[in-house]
Amino acid sequence: MSKRRLVIVSNRLPFIVRERAGELRYTPSVGGLATGLSAYLRSLDVPQSSVKDYLWVGWPGSTVNDASKARLRRETFEKFQSSPIFLSAEEMDLFYHGFCNGTLWPLFHYFPSLTTYREDYWKQYQQVNKTFAESVSEILKPDDIVWIHDYQLMLLPRLLRQYVPQSPIGFFLHIPFPSFEIFRLIPQEWRREILQGLMGADLVGFHTYEYTQNFLRCVLRILGIGNTMGSIIAHDRIVKAETFPMGIDVAHFAEAAQSPEVQRERDVLRKSLKTDKVILSVDRLDYTKGILNRLEAYEYLLENFKEYRRHVVLVMIVVPSRVAVRQYERMKKQIEETVGRINGKFGSVGWTPIIYQYKALPFHPLVAFYTVSDVALVTPLRDGMNLVAKEYVASRADDTGVLILSEMAGAAKELGEAVIINPNYREEVASAMRMALDMPLEEQRRRNRVMKERIRRYNVVRWAGDFVTQLLSVQDVRRSFYSKLLLEDSRSELTERYRASLSRGIYLDYDGTLSPFTLHPEDAAPSKELLTLLKILAGDSRNNITIISGRKRDVLGEWFESLPIRLVAEHGIWILEPGKEWVMAKPMNNSWKSSILPVLEQYADRLPGSFVEEKEFSAVWHYRGADPEHSESLAAELMDTLMGFTANVDAQVMRGNKIIEVRPVGVTKGIIGEELIQRANDEFVLFIGDDWTDEDLFKVLPGAAYSVKVGMAQTHARFMVQGVQDVLALLGQLASPSDGAGD
Ligand code: UDP
Repeated sequence: MSKRRLVIVSNRLPFIVRERAGELRYTPSVGGLATGLSAYLRSLDVPQSSVKDYLWVGWPGSTVNDASKARLRRETFEKFQSSPIFLSAEEMDLFYHGFCNGTLWPLFHYFPSLTTYREDYWKQYQQVNKTFAESVSEILKPDDIVWIHDYQLMLLPRLLRQYVPQSPIGFFLHIPFPSFEIFRLIPQEWRREILQGLMGADLVGFHTYEYTQNFLRCVLRILGIGNTMGSIIAHDRIVKAETFPMGIDVAHFAEAAQSPEVQRERDVLRKSLKTDKVILSVDRLDYTKGILNRLEAYEYLLENFKEYRRHVVLVMIVVPSRVAVRQYERMKKQIEETVGRINGKFGSVGWTPIIYQYKALPFHPLVAFYTVSDVALVTPLRDGMNLVAKEYVASRADDTGVLILSEMAGAAKELGEAVIINPNYREEVASAMRMALDMPLEEQRRRNRVMKERIRRYNVVRWAGDFVTQLLSVQDVRRSFYSKLLLEDSRSELTERYRASLSRGIYLDYDGTLSPFTLHPEDAAPSKELLTLLKILAGDSRNNITIISGRKRDVLGEWFESLPIRLVAEHGIWILEPGKEWVMAKPMNNSWKSSILPVLEQYADRLPGSFVEEKEFSAVWHYRGADPEHSESLAAELMDTLMGFTANVDAQVMRGNKIIEVRPVGVTKGIIGEELIQRANDEFVLFIGDDWTDEDLFKVLPGAAYSVKVGMAQTHARFMVQGVQDVLALLGQLASPSDGAGD
């Protein structure tokens, strides 16, 4: 197995650099991503790993002098296998405090009222993502795997893709991806660019199934691109959206909990806390964490259930975050006032209801708090995952302790045995606290064992490993697609075979092949370029050209009658040989139409933007212009209804590209195409089509024939091209004088 380098890209490096009096000082970061990924990176040193080396790219946590940059670059590489990206204080302000934390953070956590939409923030967000793309592209080697992290860099996958079209690029979002109704609050242009930015990745990962579904729904509703089981085929690439709930290094916490260092610290805590029960609350200072709501619930408990007074202490650890942002300072003040008020109201000599600490704890003291606490109160109003909840469970050596967990945290999806609460309702939180404080030990153990086993199995190493494995497998699918692409070599071979043949049958679908789809089918008239090409090709007496379409004969006739080419309308019902009259391929019956049309019309009435097209022997419900999501469910319903209607008549139902069509049984492009091709017996045969109706013909073409599918999808065709422009280029190559071949 070839071993590759993993390039991790995140806004912040896993340490902070400070420059003091010409000296560079490094402090490791304590965040979940830094600790989690380091466990994964440590695990890479085994033979079965497909990743052998890594490099971490990001901002070093402060602005440094130009004079120190080279030294910082060298030192961060040597000490931390990292490469810094330098951003000015102004850039960081508009980008990080502006768009990231003033727009994306509140909105993605369902706080639209705290969200600001400012052009200068957005511009800086674009700019910083560009800076990252440029810097990362300079560092990348051809075999590298790129893994981009979090909401600060959502434009980066696409920007980077422009530099390294073939590299595996993965993206993971560590915060919630909101529902469509929230996401759509972002201005139109920005939200499209954000989604397109993410779609530059091969794999986009989220913590929970809901976030993944929210993303897919936004891609459908905003970009109009659907998916099959999370795989999105976007123009020429496959993008996979998948769920990977981030875990923790369970063994690390379990071992620490038993270590003498933590035990010593726990004994000290136990003595100084002097209480029957300890409730623990640990979070970064942030409005998403619901710290004030939690305090209110605790106050409600003490107010209404006096028996807990003097027996319970709430240890509240608030970790400084986004220091110097006014809103956060206000929040801190409010929390401290509330703590003071509750302590003043209920406290007495020898009992302080809330022990409050505003600081970040290093690893061992934090684990000591986990082990000393009878209850962990994790009640964010919204949280992408919440690792504290998992860390608490992992640190409980004897499996006791009760986790109270908000249903708004991603972790609640995995930790269902916790006491799950709605954090907005203090009565509910208070009653969960009572339940937790009174829960028998056996019940506590029963719940924790199940959760511990689950987080042990899907730990952080597995999380990262799974992500990278999936990323590489999406690449494999992509590669198999690419192997069908009609590239230089096969195009030259096709052209040579064409030139060497004395009779050539060229069969062309129309919509989506020779002309792009339009909202209204009548707007998709042939371009001048196309008509010229067809004229040149048809002018060569060795060529027999057939346009084989689902269109009505009058439309095809109007567009192409002047050219000496054969036209096949309504998927094979009507045929027009050059210079002759339209004839039917075989006698058909359309008496079923009168019963089907009202059904289609009923659906057109139900779905604004959809309409019915009546052809002589078929009827079509078009829904390209309708709401994409609503139309998918109605289309499925209509298919089902029509199946019943057509069971006893000579008609069949077909689902095409944003259409449902009913037409006579025994009419397919496969049947008519095969017949025409056999009859002509041309030396060279080419068929180009885009829709699944064309698959009928791809399937039955003789082995030597050239079949070309337009668009990337599973296909029976031998080759693929990406779009109409590629088809026109190919026809142009065939139409050009032979000495121009192959250029
Ligand atoms: N943490 C820490 N020291 C503290 C408090 C928290 O190191 O004093 C760590 C904690 O172990 C966890 C992370 O910070 O790994 C917090 O992650 P979480 O997902 O709970 O919240 P976030 O801060 O990412 O929103």
